[in-house]
Formats: sequence, C-alpha cells, structure tokens
Amino acid sequence: MNLNHIINTIEEQHGLSVEDGLRLLAPDAVDLIELLSAAYFYRKTHYGREVTVHILNNVQNGFCPEDCRYCAQSRSSEAPIETYAMKPEAEILAEAKAAYEQGAHRYCMVFAGTGPSDNRIKTICGIVRRIKEQYNLEVCVSPGIVTEGQAAELKAAGLDRLNHNLNTSERYYSRICSTHTYSDRLSTLQAAKKAGLAVCSGVIVGMGETPLDVVDMAMQLKKYHAASIPVNFFIPIPGAAIKQANGLTPEYCLRVLCLFRLINPSAEIRMAAGREMHLRSLEAMGLYAANSLFLQGYLNARGTSDKQTLQMIKDAGFTIKSDVPLDQLIDRQTEEDNGQGLKTVNELRPFNNKG
Ligand code: SF4
Repeated sequence: MNLNHIINTIEEQHGLSVEDGLRLLAPDAVDLIELLSAAYFYRKTHYGREVTVHILNNVQNGFCPEDCRYCAQSRSSEAPIETYAMKPEAEILAEAKAAYEQGAHRYCMVFAGTGPSDNRIKTICGIVRRIKEQYNLEVCVSPGIVTEGQAAELKAAGLDRLNHNLNTSERYYSRICSTHTYSDRLSTLQAAKKAGLAVCSGVIVGMGETPLDVVDMAMQLKKYHAASIPVNFFIPIPGAAIKQANGLTPEYCLRVLCLFRLINPSAEIRMAAGREMHLRSLEAMGLYAANSLFLQGYLNARGTSDKQTLQMIKDAGFTIKSDVPLDQLIDRQTEEDNGQGLKTVNELRPFNNKG
C-alpha cells in the first residue's frame, strides 16, 4: 500500500476495513512515511496546521472503588499518589483561569470514581456555568459512568464534551478491569450522545492487547462518532497492577496515531499520555497524524515542560488554537524540571491555600 492506495481505499470504500487497519499497524506492508503522509492529508484537511492544547485537572484524586489495572487511583493500586476529595470551587476556577492564560483551548475536569451522584452533578453544573461565563474555554468533564438524565443536566449547564474512555477493546476489557464492564462504558457514551454532548473517548495502547484490539477500538469509536479521541500510550506507574508497557516502539506508536486518524478522519486525535516516553525522538512526527495534545502532564504522571512542548509544536511548523500567540507563550516560559515522575501535591493543587 502507498499513499494513493490508502486514500483511494478510504474514499472509494467509505473507510478502511479491519484487514486494512491491521496492515497499517504491521511494520512491512506500508512504509511509515507513506502512512504519515496519508494521515497528514486528513489532518490538514480538517485542522490545517493547528494544534489544540488541553490541560487536565484532577479535581479529585484517588479513593476510587474500581479496579482498573492500569490506573494509579484504583483500589488495587499501591502507587504513592497524592489523594484528596473534590477540590473547592474557588480552586477549580483559579485553575481554569490559569489554563486559559497558559494557552489552553480546552479545560478538562477529571473525577476519579465509578460515577457521580445527582448532587455531585449539580455541583459540576455550577462550575461549568461559571467557567463558561468567565473564559473563552471549551469545557470537558470526565465524570465516570453517567445516566442519560445526568448527561442532559450537564448539557443544559453548557458543557461542551463528556469524556469517557473505552481504554481497550471489548475482547480485552475483562483483563484490565473486573468491577465494571465494557458495556457500562458504551452506555455512558450513548447517554452523552443522546444528550447532544460531543463525545470524547480514548484508548490506552500498550497494556498487552493485540493489534486487532487496537483496530477494534478505532472502529468502535467511529461507530460512536467520537469528536475527540485521546490516544494514550501506557505509562507504567510503580504500584499500579499493570507493571510494564508492552510492544510500544516509537514507530508502532506513530502507526497507531495514523490508524486512528485514517479510521476517524475528522476526529480530534490527541497524542495523549506517554507521548514523551514512547514516541521519544519521533514525537514531533506524531503531529502529522494527531492535532491535539496535553500540556502539563497527565493525571498523576508528569510530562515534559510546557516550554519543550510548545517549542516542539513551533519547531515542527505547527501553531496552536488559543487566544494567546504561541511565541508569547514560549517567551513566557522559564526552564523547568523536565524529569518524569509523580506530581507533587503543589503541582496537583497550585491554588489550594490551606497548605
Ligand atoms: S480509571 Fe477511573 S474508574 Fe478506573 S480505577 Fe482509575 S479513577 Fe477509578
């Protein structure tokens, strides 16, 4: 397969087949550069050379009764993370302001746990309303499993997107979690769609799944018309049940990003957690398939500094979607510690004045 063959197949057959997807992930059927060119064709068609920057906020950390084996916050994890109940509203709003000023286009509030109570939904709705009133930010919430009624309340409050990751394939799901099912996850996506919320749903690659599982995830997200797909590359956190990443080379990671772009051509494809660790020196090439990334690290793991990330975007010839110009953001940054590791409580709660 070459560039033209890939594009013709997508255009003439209205998408790739599972077999085509598997061929794209294999090292020898398609040259990486042809694959990246095909992915870039669709990336450029839908997003030009713009990169959307997202900043995550763990508004609550730890205390989760679920047992997702990849997760540092799960009940089975012994990872020494900082745990806290939901941050006060003033702290969340201060973080939203900082995210806006740091160039974020989208602000994502993430809750650990199975799913929210109706009271918690009301609190989240109030916060969403206040952020939308004050800042030109798209708001996304990752609340866990929600009902149709709860999704409708969030939509009425002005929420733009609801995040609920599939994480892995239906076939592999029981290997990564025993306390809820894949169909629980799908029903939350269905509730979000029914409420008219855009669906953000991502995957974690490198937990021992096969290439077929990866293709199945991309196909499933196509069925749900996911507007946004964070593609995470597994970061092993000491103490979490899954101990190591499996099968992730920089080239395979690039192929995975291209696969998600080619199966979901107009979706916002995000090179999410683990981009630094697993794409390594090929990281900037990921922007030819993905049009989005996270700044300031992930839920409990650090990423590279803001300066390095923004400079990479600029050096690769891309720009960002923000009210603040990219050059201004780069100039503003000071050199920071680029080490990997767990975030400290000050990094997780920079606006918590209680000490
Ligand atoms: S992924 Fe979410 S639901 Fe699963 S253990 Fe972690 S915080 Fe809990």
